[in-house]
Amino acid sequence: MKKIGIIRCQQTEDLCPGTTDFKCAQAGTFAFEPFAPCEIVGFVSCGGCPGKRAVARAKMLVDRGAEAVFLASCIRKGKPIDMPCPHADAMKAAIEKKLGEAVPVIDWTHA
Ligand code: SF4
Repeated sequence: MKKIGIIRCQQTEDLCPGTTDFKCAQAGTFAFEPFAPCEIVGFVSCGGCPGKRAVARAKMLVDRGAEAVFLASCIRKGKPIDMPCPHADAMKAAIEKKLGEAVPVIDWTHA
């Protein structure tokens, strides 16, 4: 069982409770396929623009056991309203720098 954490866009919390992320993680589909079976250890937001808080939150997920951190598809793909995060690249790079190579950072969750 692979333990994973998910970071989502705070701006879309009013529009989406993350249902598809939970379903796909449980089913081991889409971005979760290489990590299946998965157990979600935490589901947090980026903390709001420009996403700087996501770095500490990613570390918190790892401290709680996450072996991989996923940026939900609301961030890179702009789900569900087709408005991708303008800070996605910088956020992912900062998280990767903080976590190091041992913890993969995946920048999508589902189609
Ligand atoms: S930084 Fe990106 S992911 Fe976070 S709230 Fe702003 S638009 Fe959403």
